[in-house]
Amino acid sequence: MIIDCHGHFTTVPKTLHEWRRRQLGNGGGFYGAPLHISDDELREALESGQLKEQRARGLDMTLFSPIAGQMGHHLGTLENSIEWSRLCNDLIHRVCSLYPENFAGVCQLPQSPGQSLDASAKELERCVLELGFVGCNLNPDPAGGYWTDKPLTDKAYYPLYEKMVELDVPAMIHVSSSCNPCFHHVGAHYLNGDTTAFMQLLLAPQLFKDFPTLRFIIPHGGGAVPYHWGRYRGLAQDMGLQPLHDGLLGNVFFDTCVYHQAGIDLLTKVIPHRNIVFGSEMIGAVKGIDPETGHHFDDTGRYIAATPHLCDCDRRQVLAGNALSLYPRLKARVPA
Ligand SMILES: [Zn+2]
Repeated sequence: MIIDCHGHFTTVPKTLHEWRRRQLGNGGGFYGAPLHISDDELREALESGQLKEQRARGLDMTLFSPIAGQMGHHLGTLENSIEWSRLCNDLIHRVCSLYPENFAGVCQLPQSPGQSLDASAKELERCVLELGFVGCNLNPDPAGGYWTDKPLTDKAYYPLYEKMVELDVPAMIHVSSSCNPCFHHVGAHYLNGDTTAFMQLLLAPQLFKDFPTLRFIIPHGGGAVPYHWGRYRGLAQDMGLQPLHDGLLGNVFFDTCVYHQAGIDLLTKVIPHRNIVFGSEMIGAVKGIDPETGHHFDDTGRYIAATPHLCDCDRRQVLAGNALSLYPRLKARVPA
């Protein structure tokens, strides 16, 4: 069994993008226009995209969420964000209902810069209890590259964390697009976001004392973190914090969206296998074929299969076992 913890509906019919443009042009309040996308259009978008690749790569299930770059928390108002998130999450729910064996839902949260996380907690509850979702994506920078909000460890996030713990679902920490021209979104902003979030969590161990079962997945292989693991271990030591293996790694996990063999080799050498969960972000940031290997850059299963740092048992944990532990609600969705 192979579970891909990181997939977005990047092939969604363009009608959705048009709806969003009209919503934002309509002002800050409730827009209310219906979205017209048929089941056939959804099937077509998936059969020629994610499902085709899922089958070709031998993946069993993908944890599927709305397009991260289109969450656009920095655009419009909180009301816009609530309506947009509900619409996008409902669409993911339709996908999961059409293909219950292939996709499980992960929701977008209606964040908005400087605003309370109450709406996010409420939408998470709706998605988990009413739509059967298994997790959420949490944006550490709703300002879209300007980082004007508080760190993830601030008490402002606690209403969301209380709900995550109550529902026993994890969050993947995932930025959206960047409106700061200094940061290319997938080339810089994403990896900055991953690295920054990890450091925030390292600096404030009180968070996991307050919420011992809170779980975060840091995507894209953890940004710069595994490569600079010595720096983070050293910083923790200098600051008198618990060693990372005894502290942070009880609550923080990394996916495998790293697009070359050497990167996965490093990740699997440095980070304990129980903290690594398979992900590809297919179809996403990098769509092409690597001329050095002849395979898609994002076909990360090949790197997991080839790394010398995982025995067969550990490899199974990375490919599926860890996802089932991290996302307990997934167990009801996959064959035992
Ligand atoms: Zn992503």
